[in-house]
Amino acid sequence: MKKIAIIGAGPYGLIVLDRLIKQSSLSEKIEILLFDPDGPGGNIWRKDQSNQVIMNTVMQHVTLFSKDEGPNLAEWNQTVAPNYLSSLNHGEFFSEETKLGKNDYCQRRYYGIYQCWFFDELMKNLPANVTVDLIEEQVIDLTVTEKEILIKTTKNFQVDDVILATGHSANYLNETENKQQKYAEEHNLFYQGPGNPSDTRLDQLIEGETVILRGLGLSFFDYIALFVAKWGGKFIEEDNCLVYAPSGKEQLLVVGSGRGLPYHARPNNQKKPGEDAQPQILTETFMEHFRGTADNLFDLLKKEAELVYYQKKLANTEIDLSGFLEEYRKGEREVVLSKYQISDELRLDWTELFDPAKEILPKDFPDFIQSYLKKDIVEAERGNVTGPIASAIDTYKELQEPFNFMLDNEKFTTKEYFEDFFGSFNRNYSFLTIGAPVIRQKQLLALIEAGVIKFLAPEMDIKRVNGEFLAYSKRNSRHSFRAKNLIEARLPATSLKRTKNPLVIQMRKKGYLSSHSLTVDGSEHFTGAIRVARKTHQVIDQTGVVLQHIYCYGIPLEGLDWLNAASPRPKSNDRVFYLANQIVNTIYR
Ligand SMILES: Cc1cc2nc3c(=O)[nH]c(=O)nc-3n(C[C@H](O)[C@H](O)[C@H](O)COP(=O)(O)OP(=O)(O)OC[C@H]3O[C@@H](n4cnc5c(N)ncnc54)[C@H](O)[C@@H]3O)c2cc1C
Repeated sequence: MKKIAIIGAGPYGLIVLDRLIKQSSLSEKIEILLFDPDGPGGNIWRKDQSNQVIMNTVMQHVTLFSKDEGPNLAEWNQTVAPNYLSSLNHGEFFSEETKLGKNDYCQRRYYGIYQCWFFDELMKNLPANVTVDLIEEQVIDLTVTEKEILIKTTKNFQVDDVILATGHSANYLNETENKQQKYAEEHNLFYQGPGNPSDTRLDQLIEGETVILRGLGLSFFDYIALFVAKWGGKFIEEDNCLVYAPSGKEQLLVVGSGRGLPYHARPNNQKKPGEDAQPQILTETFMEHFRGTADNLFDLLKKEAELVYYQKKLANTEIDLSGFLEEYRKGEREVVLSKYQISDELRLDWTELFDPAKEILPKDFPDFIQSYLKKDIVEAERGNVTGPIASAIDTYKELQEPFNFMLDNEKFTTKEYFEDFFGSFNRNYSFLTIGAPVIRQKQLLALIEAGVIKFLAPEMDIKRVNGEFLAYSKRNSRHSFRAKNLIEARLPATSLKRTKNPLVIQMRKKGYLSSHSLTVDGSEHFTGAIRVARKTHQVIDQTGVVLQHIYCYGIPLEGLDWLNAASPRPKSNDRVFYLANQIVNTIYR
């Protein structure tokens, strides 16, 4: 008999639960304990949150079924959902969601319902040898003894193996954030550190006063939606654009970030599940023989995206497209582009994508931001199969395997790993590929046009001056905004040192969990991740010993693994499924 605890019932916890059930051997009795105070679906997707926060993944690209043996979120919505919702008395509550199509973005809490259904299905179809107990409590401690592992909630449990799927965690504030918090308390200001926007008490803002939002990623867009709902303003559609009709309760939002630009819009989806980009250069065989630098690899990823871009861009021109693409794939870019006389306007300009504001003077930035958004919307709306830029962005996003190969096989040098891959490459990757749906960019544009949002030029900074916060761009420090509200519009970073998760803190204190770090040029850098053995995902304790019966995967490993904060895609050999299988195979070996 084996007794296994899964801590966390978000997507990762549920996926590993599914694998544990389906891969169990009928001859062995398996008892599984699943812990999460928020129940199946977990905290991010919980039911009691605003309908304004939506997914940034289209419904047909979301699933929990690793072998596609059940419906993806879109299929579920069109088939099983109505009956399931009625059985929960949620039919009316989610009536708008049931009308959504496969390329729509549903409310976050609706994905939570899909996860509850997934869990219910697992329970209905349990094999005779498996039992599952859902314990809707937080685990606060864990002790490893010679024979077993003791787990503590308000009760005590004994198990053989533990899988930590604890996902996102709130952090204690860092030194700078602490100073802001203290200053806010001293001067009756509002300060919100990094966190899930759904948890922020916007009702505690200083009413009528300017709000500074620092960060222009997904959390920023969540905040925008939550602010508009709080004010009661409306977006009115006119000629495929939006116009903002204010309610009169608006507060000025002063927004910015280091780069100064919101992430590129998510391209409109035209791909069915399973139609993910396929490598033309970075194939498995190529990677097995690859001996180049990180920069070589990043450049080849760009070339992969360029091939897709030119395939679309040059499709209706006179040139011999297949000849061009063949030569481009193998040859020197410049030589081939010149040979085929591809004009500058037709070429893909990466600076335009990664650093579009490079040449813009700070004084011109407010106008520039509007033209940037308009252009970005047009490109995203061309779609990820027909639009040249959108298809290139999608290819850049989807070809993740080569990088996982590099990580799994420890092929980056420590410097490349820390500074290049998890540093500059990853920042650009996020900016390009993990933006919000187009509708959000349109809403943002409408709010700028209505004068509700003001953008700072890049290199945003904040000072504490005369009992208020002062926001400005370091490129134009004379132009500043005073405010009584400051929100750090970003999620907390993965940090074993600063996590508020009581279980993780206890495990760290007891020496079971150690920090993943890299030594670059003689100095040690902590990635924030928990250290695990890459090939098994068993945690490594502070003396360097692999704890055979404790596993971890997902967000607490960001910095050791890459891109853990995403739900897996159907009809793909998604990394999440691969890792869940790896853990389950080790437990059942
Ligand atoms: C605001 C936000 C929006 C997002 N939107 C998208 C999106 O649209 N599309 C997408 O693909 N991804 C999105 N993500 C990424 C998200 O990380 C993944 O989709 C997914 O939720 C990760 O699953 P997980 O199970 O690893 O972590 P989580 O979803 O964070 O689940 C972890 C669970 O563990 C539980 N837990 C933690 N500690 C304990 C403990 N001590 N005892 C008991 N239970 C515990 C928590 O309560 C939580 O429910 C979003 C993330 C955030 C934060």
